[in-house]
Amino acid sequence: MQYAFDIGGSKIEFGVFNDAGDILLHSKTPTLKDDRDAFIATLSDAISEADAEFGARPDIGISFAGGLDPQTGAVISANVPAIKDWKLATELEAILGRKVLVENDADCFALAEAMSGVAKDVRTVFAIILGTGVGGGIVYDGQFLGGRSGIRGEWGHGNDVTGSLIRNGLAPVPCGCGQTGCLDAWGGARGLEHIHAQISGNRITSFDITDAWRGNDEMATRAVEIYCELVARELALMVNVLDPDCIPVGGGIASEHVIISRIDSMVRERVLGRYDTPLVIPGAFAKDGGLRGAAMLHQMASRQSLGRSS
Ligand SMILES: [Zn+2]
Repeated sequence: MQYAFDIGGSKIEFGVFNDAGDILLHSKTPTLKDDRDAFIATLSDAISEADAEFGARPDIGISFAGGLDPQTGAVISANVPAIKDWKLATELEAILGRKVLVENDADCFALAEAMSGVAKDVRTVFAIILGTGVGGGIVYDGQFLGGRSGIRGEWGHGNDVTGSLIRNGLAPVPCGCGQTGCLDAWGGARGLEHIHAQISGNRITSFDITDAWRGNDEMATRAVEIYCELVARELALMVNVLDPDCIPVGGGIASEHVIISRIDSMVRERVLGRYDTPLVIPGAFAKDGGLRGAAMLHQMASRQSLGRSS
């Protein structure tokens, strides 16, 4: 049995999983973003109730939107100020009295897809999140890649999509990371809204845009086509670099299977390698991959230590 938390900016999800990966209990509570004591209480309350219900004391896996300093274990970026600069795993281990492992939520999504989702049994998995913005996680041979800075898989930052924007008559917008031209501002639901607003002069939600697109609305159709092209160009570069076996997609846009399929075709048209079957596909755990992956962290860590000792 495993306990898992997915800590988001608006809610904390808790899940109890059995060894087969079935979810036995699932609950959600609002995130009290600025209050560390309240944050700890949310976790410990959920744990005590589950301990009582299941008569067990399982290890805990946590996924969150941010990175950890590999030297100190401190949270180096997070949308929850209550845990910023805090040694999340070691402090919680001391408070909760059991093993705690913490990883980035996109990495956890990638792990869930690689271990039991659409990328099961393949070697190189580049999982992407098309949510509000853009994220990603890489799993190779069942383990995460990278680790020197604690930030990885962030293919939505550091790019310059300005050329694509200009070709489509769009004006660049600044990214939250301080640069201009990052895909993050364009490759998620927020980006689809920017595109539609700039080409039509009408700012509507991404849900209204995809509804209008399904109804063959001309502006929405153009916005979706530009959106797919922007994402596909940057993704093609990642494919050229990684040569992945599978690119599972999570986040809100993953539920739009026609859009994912269009991105997939555009990517496979642009890459140097030959991929005869779809690469970019909706994840099996597009909605709860962070939580599911968090529940697999201890299993991954034990495989890693076995690999080291052999
Ligand atoms: Zn950026």
